[in-house]
Amino acid sequence: MPRSLHDLTFDQLREEIVAAGLRPAHAGTLWNTLHFKAMADPLAREDLLPPLRKWLTQVLSDGSWMLDVPPVSLDTASSDGLTHKFLLRMADAQEIETVIMGYTGRHTACVSTQAGCAMGCVFCATGQMGFVRHLRPGEIVAQVLHAQRSVRANGGKGLRNLVFMGMGEPLHNYDAVMTALDIICDTRGLNIGPSKISVSTVGVVPGILRMAAEKRPYNLAVSLHAATEEERAKLIPANQRWPLSDLIAACRSYNAQTGRRIFFAWTLIQGVNDTPEHARLIAELLQGLDAHINLIPLNQTDGYDGSESSDSAADIFHRILQDAGFPCTIRQRRGIDVAAGCGQLKAAKSVRRKAA
Ligand code: SAH
Ligand code: SF4
Repeated sequence: MPRSLHDLTFDQLREEIVAAGLRPAHAGTLWNTLHFKAMADPLAREDLLPPLRKWLTQVLSDGSWMLDVPPVSLDTASSDGLTHKFLLRMADAQEIETVIMGYTGRHTACVSTQAGCAMGCVFCATGQMGFVRHLRPGEIVAQVLHAQRSVRANGGKGLRNLVFMGMGEPLHNYDAVMTALDIICDTRGLNIGPSKISVSTVGVVPGILRMAAEKRPYNLAVSLHAATEEERAKLIPANQRWPLSDLIAACRSYNAQTGRRIFFAWTLIQGVNDTPEHARLIAELLQGLDAHINLIPLNQTDGYDGSESSDSAADIFHRILQDAGFPCTIRQRRGIDVAAGCGQLKAAKSVRRKAA
């Protein structure tokens, strides 16, 4: 199996280039081509210096190196044109989702970190698929590069924000995600600012503590969805491994060590976790934390029969949290008509395949 040039950080690429007898400046040119210009085919760059062109042609054809430029197997846009969703096909035929949400002038990409997910959240289409495998750094970077090319091809300036809220649990694939982030934030390449990036976790406690210890400068989002151990375990099997009490302790430690606010996500499910009592329990649980709470209406999936909360229940919930002093927003649903929830496009495609 060839190694991927997209797996490498700038320093690693330079080491490889120098070890191959080329000059360090060639590494700069190749990095610029792959990550700043975001070219899918670096050999198409006309001003590549002959030694670099020769090396690249050689290593790509003899199978020692490859590029992560996954083909698109499905490309859908929402009817309002604001959400674009892609299924990208990896070399082993695994398909993963990448989404671009385009608010005027500031595009956000949402990327996947695993094929499937081991965490098994009952309401999540990816969780319902089970775990297939981790993605490599290059496969994560490739999604951002694809989104960048797509935004530019549509006349946009480029991506500004990035969220790790696609398929998979980022902190269950910690090393690959952090290497991908080093590549994505490199100012000589994609240059997405760390403060414009959010990593969302279901609550992998060791990963949260590691992000704090390593001073990773990204925003942290924690998917909460329930405020008692019993209720959370019913929705999120991973709560058995990392109980809510440990998770909240880790969040307090993260706040204290980093001085950063945590963004808690709460998927509102009618009659399950959307009563005023639930809102009061959240306020009690998060007391003293520097927290922002995002309320997200449930997207229905085939494997779970819950339904989204009514607007009035969501509004009351919202108000209780605000009155308790927490900044709180109800997230607008984007691109509901392109199977907006995590893993839902892939799930919808498999259903269509079965039906065909
Ligand atoms: N594994 C990470 C990141 C991917 S999921 C995590 O769980 O945080 C991104 C967000 O989408 C999470 O907050 C998750 O709870 C939410 N989500 C998953 N399925 C959903 C659905 N059907 N409706 C609404 N939100 C959903
Ligand atoms: Fe995995 Fe996140 Fe889906 Fe849970 S919500 S199954 S952690 S992707």
